[in-house]
Formats: sequence, structure tokens, C-alpha cells
Amino acid sequence: MTGRQPRRSPIDCRLTVYGDVFERMHRRLLQSRAEEGGKLLGYQQHASTHIDNSNARVELTIEDYIDSGPNLGHSEVHIMPDGDYQEKLFRVIERLEPRIDHVGTWHSHHSNGLETLSKGDIDGYFESVNSPNYNLDYFVAYLVKKLNRTSIDGDFYLFVRGENDFSRLPQRAITIVRGRSTLSDFLEAAEGLSSQRQLTGYRSDVRAQLTRLPVAGRQSAPSALTQSSHNAQESSGLIEDREWFNVHFPDAEIRRGILSGKLSWKWSVGFGNQTYKIRCMYEDRDKLVLEATNATGKIVKHLDLSFNNERHGAIMSFIDTLTLPQVGHADNPTSGNS
Ligand SMILES: [Zn+2]
Repeated sequence: MTGRQPRRSPIDCRLTVYGDVFERMHRRLLQSRAEEGGKLLGYQQHASTHIDNSNARVELTIEDYIDSGPNLGHSEVHIMPDGDYQEKLFRVIERLEPRIDHVGTWHSHHSNGLETLSKGDIDGYFESVNSPNYNLDYFVAYLVKKLNRTSIDGDFYLFVRGENDFSRLPQRAITIVRGRSTLSDFLEAAEGLSSQRQLTGYRSDVRAQLTRLPVAGRQSAPSALTQSSHNAQESSGLIEDREWFNVHFPDAEIRRGILSGKLSWKWSVGFGNQTYKIRCMYEDRDKLVLEATNATGKIVKHLDLSFNNERHGAIMSFIDTLTLPQVGHADNPTSGNS
């Protein structure tokens, strides 16, 4: 499914993690059916260890994390943190605790059941560790795979600057200590405010739109592929779709409609001097709705498809037919004569 898989690292990495970190993640995840995450904070001991040495030993400590911020975008199958918020909050932390570094990231797949990093995750982490703006030569990625009432289950991965492979850290490399960072009160207060902003933003939008709509236009209770009726089978279909979009339309973004609660992929395709916006919506558990809109905002093509194994081929054909010369008004539902 993904090109790169974890390899055995020649680097002896020892990770120490404050137990409170997992508890904080757990509290957050219990409240959420979407992917969650944050920027891991900590430090590296013996920072002089050089990555060229094949016997290198690196010791990293994770104390806490910065939450994903008020403008977080996420669904069951994606997370797009508020990078601006995380960056600015980190600048404050740096001044309060100069020994603290950004040491990696965490996110969860508890919402979709994927127990490995996705291709998008892996590509993003290689980019992060090799960024000139990243201080350390090592980048830790923690993936939460499962959640139960009392704990979380996850894996730590290590990415190293300049290397082509990454590794999954064995259990023996990880030591969990009783501990709470001096920054934790501050970080949790920030998270509380972020969450409040996420909620008020969401609710006021819904209210504003509801009052403008006639009663008949209101959606009935959202059915499949919404937060209210979510199951593992649907999630695995969503994951397949995410991997497929990643390969075929890497610019496609998944968003949940504020009012309908339904997920849609949105992207653009261009042919010659024509650009179309494409939307692929999960209408219900059996049905996808595809729509192409031209530059003037007119829907030029609409197609309902079944949510089955042929859907990816059908999306491709739909895109292909956009390049064909339009015949009459056949495909244009908005151009009928009255
Ligand atoms: Zn992921």
C-alpha cells in the first residue's frame, strides 16, 4: 500500500516518555471520532551524538505536546493541524523553557482502524526531519492505533535526517516514567481554549446557516459516513479512497460539510484552458455523488455511483469524459429550456 516501510535502524534510540502525555492523549481521543494529534515537545540528551556514527545512540525525552489548534481540520481519515498556532505557541514555550525542543509529532488512527502510517504521513515526516527549520537530526512520530476506555495503544517511529528509511522503535527502547512537565498546565489550558474555539466556530456556523434555510431544505439526520453512524467497514473504504486519492489526485482534500455532516473529496482538474472543480461526496453508505463545476460555477456533469469496488474506475471515467466535446445539453442539468 505504501512505498516505504519501516526498516531496522542502525541507531540505538532510547525514548523516555512522561506518563501524563498518554493520559492527556487518551482524554482527548475519548471525546473524538476524528483523527487527533499534536506536536511533541521534549529534548535530546547528549546532543553531540553524530548521525554518521553507525553505533550512534540517541536519547530523547518526550514531556508533552502542543495541541492541533483552533483552526484544526480533521475527519475520520485526515488531520490538518493549525500550523500557524502551533508555531506561535512553540515560540512562546521556547522563551519559557529554552531546553525544550520540537521532537516530533503524534496523531491517531483510532477513528479509522489503520494500524500503520499512511503514505501521506510518511512523506510528511521525511519532509519535517529534513527541513532546515527543524532543530534536531531525529524526528519521533507516535501513531495511536487503538483506544479503549482506560488506555491507548500505539507505536513510535523514528525518522533520521538524511536517511531514506525509517524505523519502528521496539518496546524495549521506550521507557515510560511518572512525570508531568512544568509546561503541562499551560499546554492543557491552551488546548482547552483551542477546543472552545473549534466548538463555537462550528456551532455558530451551523446556526447561521440553519436560520437562512427553509424548513423543507433541512437535511434529515445524517446517515452513513457521518459521525453519528460510523463503523469499521466504512472506515476501511475511506482509507482505500484516501490512499487512492493520494496517488491519483494528490491535491484532493477531504472535508466534512458543516450542515450535512457528509464527507467530500474536493479537487480541481484542468484540460487545456478549462478548469473544473470536482466534488465526490459520500451521500450514504451505498452511494457516492460526483459533480464537476466549471469556472463560472455551473455544474456541468453529475453522476451517482455505488460505493463498491468499481468506484475508482468510475471516478476516472467521469474525469475522462470531461475532456470529450459536450454534445447538446445532455450532461448539463442546469441548461434545460423552460
Ligand atoms: Zn495518519
